[in-house]
Amino acid sequence: MTIAHVLGFPRIGRKRELKFALENFWRGEIDEAELQVVGQTLRREAWGWQNKAGLDFVTVGDFAWYDHMLNASALLGCLPARFGFDAQALSLKQYFELARGNAAQPAQEMTKWFDTNYHYLVPELAAETRFDGGVEWLFDEVADALAIGYRVKVALPGPLTFLWLSKSKAAGFNKLGLIARLLPAYVRILQKLAAQGVEWVQLDETILGLELPPDWLAAFAPVYRELAKAGPQILLATCFESVSDHAALLHDLPVAGVHLDLKRAPQQLAAFLPGWPQGKVLSLGVIDGRNIWAADLDATLATLEDARDVLGERLWIGSSCSLLHVPVDLAQERELDSELQRWLAFARQKLDEIGVLKRGLEQGRDAIAAALHASQKAVQSRHNSPRIHNPAVAQRLTGLQPSDAERSSAFPQRQAKQRARFQLPPLPTTTIGSFPQTPAIRAARAGFKRGTLDEAGYVVAMQSEIRLAVEKQEQLGLDVLVHGEAERNDMVEYFGEQLAGFAFTQFGWVQSYGSRCVKPPVLFGDVARPQAMTVGWTRYAQSLTQKPMKGMLTGPVTILQWSFVRDDQLRATTCKQIALAIRDEVVDLEAAGIGIIQIDEPAFREGLPLKRRDWTAYLAWAVEAFKLSAAGVRDDTQIHTHMCYSEFNDILPQIAALDADVITIETSRSDMELLEGFGRFAYPNEIGPGVYDIHSPRVPPVEEMLRLIEKAAEVIPVERLWINPDCGLKTRGWTETEAALGNMLAATREARKALV
Ligand code: GLN
Ligand code: ZN
Repeated sequence: MTIAHVLGFPRIGRKRELKFALENFWRGEIDEAELQVVGQTLRREAWGWQNKAGLDFVTVGDFAWYDHMLNASALLGCLPARFGFDAQALSLKQYFELARGNAAQPAQEMTKWFDTNYHYLVPELAAETRFDGGVEWLFDEVADALAIGYRVKVALPGPLTFLWLSKSKAAGFNKLGLIARLLPAYVRILQKLAAQGVEWVQLDETILGLELPPDWLAAFAPVYRELAKAGPQILLATCFESVSDHAALLHDLPVAGVHLDLKRAPQQLAAFLPGWPQGKVLSLGVIDGRNIWAADLDATLATLEDARDVLGERLWIGSSCSLLHVPVDLAQERELDSELQRWLAFARQKLDEIGVLKRGLEQGRDAIAAALHASQKAVQSRHNSPRIHNPAVAQRLTGLQPSDAERSSAFPQRQAKQRARFQLPPLPTTTIGSFPQTPAIRAARAGFKRGTLDEAGYVVAMQSEIRLAVEKQEQLGLDVLVHGEAERNDMVEYFGEQLAGFAFTQFGWVQSYGSRCVKPPVLFGDVARPQAMTVGWTRYAQSLTQKPMKGMLTGPVTILQWSFVRDDQLRATTCKQIALAIRDEVVDLEAAGIGIIQIDEPAFREGLPLKRRDWTAYLAWAVEAFKLSAAGVRDDTQIHTHMCYSEFNDILPQIAALDADVITIETSRSDMELLEGFGRFAYPNEIGPGVYDIHSPRVPPVEEMLRLIEKAAEVIPVERLWINPDCGLKTRGWTETEAALGNMLAATREARKALV
């Protein structure tokens, strides 16, 4: 008998039922009872699938109306005091106010879940925070699953991970100090679950994959000694990284089992086997919860068979991490060809893979011969398919010289030539690329996609949007214009759709946060650019104005980061292929007379590995890829890059190493604090710190932006300073956009008088 399970399952539903129900509820179109029915149906559906696939447990506790960390806060009873809510009487309406804000209070802060594209709500703790218990939702869900007759494993964030991921406004606040109060709350929850008949509780201590300070590591033993007494058996789950540094700690920890992510870190198994304690479960996460490729069942089974020889009944098998990060069901895809379909597995298919592996272990390989055969064929076809391997791309990669990633001259020479060419005023003004995506724009794009608008009609529609954007920018008096990106639904999808090596799903949605889902492209093969992607629109835009028109591209690291990426070669190699495709576009734009080209890299920092000691390697290839995409142009062509809010201060040397002529960054939300790092580091090239926040419709007054410009000028020499908003304007309306940009230009005129 080998226990099979998953660490968690997507909660959005096959057709994003949760999203639509939530949004209907928020608009007041359905009531709470109707919303509850949708939630229960989705939970029961997920349990049913796990059960049907032959898994031994259904996992309960992975469902959340908005976010699992918010659910944990509501369960523990530690809600931000500023809302004044009673945790034990928390209504769904109040729960959503914590997530989305209300008239009096902004929402809880949201941030990325480790290195995934999921975002969680950051618990707000203070010295006086209490964990006196909150909502009973979890216990109701458990009761529901038990009543159906399932064997239940409950999954919850572990107490130390919960604390680590929370924050406090008070300076010097020691989060870890709250463990004394948090621990009894966990004990009470575990006791209650035991009383309900729950045998196993999975506590996700995902932070063990990070490099933790000694006091946090030292907290594990005493904390788990207490938890072990509470009743249910505890499976301490890790994922996203190797935890081999902590093999001794995990060996001795008084928990009933430990889960390892063998997809991200297969080598770590050696640190745990042999010598794993008798009577302690080792759960091996062999099915990828972060990517959508079908497993190689034969190779996976071989690994598990070896482990079973050592572990016997102590072996559990499961997903590498929660399946939250993959789409729900491949079976509903209608437009993927059968070959691609065979290469993929979404959450439901992954359940089946785990079920098959369990059967293979228990009944022998013959019992799963058909599945093994099909898997082997899929693996071979993926390996050999001409769709994946493009010899021209491979050749180009091997032929690369180090000089291909370098501009011909150093920045000072380029700067002189660019100044002579563009004759821009001091403190030049620009925007980040997109302008408001009006309903008319969306309708035209949708019509073209559906076939109700023909190509000629579509071109006319987009050109008139471009003309409108150019006219408005001229009227406002901006110095470097953009075409507005009306033709783009999404900054990665737009390029993926035109590049070879990408495929798109119809229902491959993954939760980003709350009701927001993303549908990442599937990057399955060698990347090449069959033809120019943006030149036509950009050239048209340039034809309408004497001012320089900035070409707008998405960078290789961001395209990689926001896609499901092939796992049969290094990410660095795939990134380099994308870089070469973007480079071709850059060169074509230059040849078409476009003198300024921006390569957006908002996801550059997101790619950083969880362990700091791995940063150097990532940064080396990420910087290289960006430079490769940018370096094919003449000295007098100006390369911009753009990054959104992310604390750059720890990677400033690498940002400088990108060697973009100009970088625009989001700074206004931090009141220019971010910029101080750039000043201290003496960032060598030109820089445009955003002077207003585009995330809200608020129009900042002239004085406010002037003050930010002056603040920026204190750390960056005026000769190297640009003026621009924080990010693209596509989510804004035209009225506020024109007003805000008008004020930005007025502030710039003042600043030119005062500073130049
Ligand atoms: N050029 C893009 C835009 O303006 C940049 C978006 C981003 O940084 N996320 O929309
Ligand atoms: Zn941005």
